[in-house]
Amino acid sequence: MSRSGARLREVGCTNRTHLSDYEGAIGPETALLLDVHASNYQIVGFTAEVGLEELVELGRKHEVPVMQDLGSGCFVDVTPFGLQGEPLVQDTVRSGADVITFSGDKLLGGTQAGIILGRSEFIAELRRNPLTRALRVDKLTLAALEATLRLYRDEDTAIQAIPTLKMIATDQKTLVDRAQVLVKALRANIPESIEVTIMDGSSMVGGGALPTQTLPTKLVAISSKEVSAARLEAHFRGYVVPIIGRVEQEHFLLDTRTLQPGDKEVIVEAVGQLDISLQSSGPTIGL
Ligand SMILES: *Cc1c(COP(=O)(O)O)cnc(C)c1O
Repeated sequence: MSRSGARLREVGCTNRTHLSDYEGAIGPETALLLDVHASNYQIVGFTAEVGLEELVELGRKHEVPVMQDLGSGCFVDVTPFGLQGEPLVQDTVRSGADVITFSGDKLLGGTQAGIILGRSEFIAELRRNPLTRALRVDKLTLAALEATLRLYRDEDTAIQAIPTLKMIATDQKTLVDRAQVLVKALRANIPESIEVTIMDGSSMVGGGALPTQTLPTKLVAISSKEVSAARLEAHFRGYVVPIIGRVEQEHFLLDTRTLQPGDKEVIVEAVGQLDISLQSSGPTIGL
């Protein structure tokens, strides 16, 4: 924003901001009221913030456009899945904001892209800026984004077909079933020195949305008394299809929430190669 030549004027303080702070800051040169939603961080405790509708009302009163940077573009209410939701793009449009920006690849689950929605007069002005051409996305990005957005025309389809949403929506019973099926397959294949168990854990949604929030999950934990979890992790990460898990308390952990169809077969194969790999894994010694 500074690069554009705009002078940024912060209002309120870190934890508490009131409408009067905005009102007091508006002057003859004020061109925009910008609200940046805390999509990827959280301020907790003694806090106050101004609702978008109030801000829009203030903007109208002073004839200053209001922009909200939503960060994560969320079209589906995720509260039924046990999360405190992000504001929905639809609600933000309804609240009357003049310009709304959000990412194509966070909760939206599409391509890496920045999306700008807004009143046609402002969008037309943005289009005229030469940077629009320099930053314009290519046809492949647009095609992929369109395919994802089309899925949202039916919410159930979106939840089933968009990996981010599908993972968030996966219920506990499915997670338990997946864990049991995977553990059984692994035990049939695993070298003697390796143990596999199911553990309770939590999934972090991540990806710049829903900060600090987690969902309960079932983890498949792989461990060994003879080799460190770090070496197990290196084996899986270095496998011909890299398998990325996390290490906690000497266990290599796979979150069943993130398993996709076909993953089980690859993990079973990788476990079958553990013996050979651990005997000859020079480069990972000392981890
Ligand atoms: C993630 C984020 C951005 C950047 O979005 P990208 O399109 O992913 O680069 C901007 N603003 C906020 C508040 C964000 O959370």
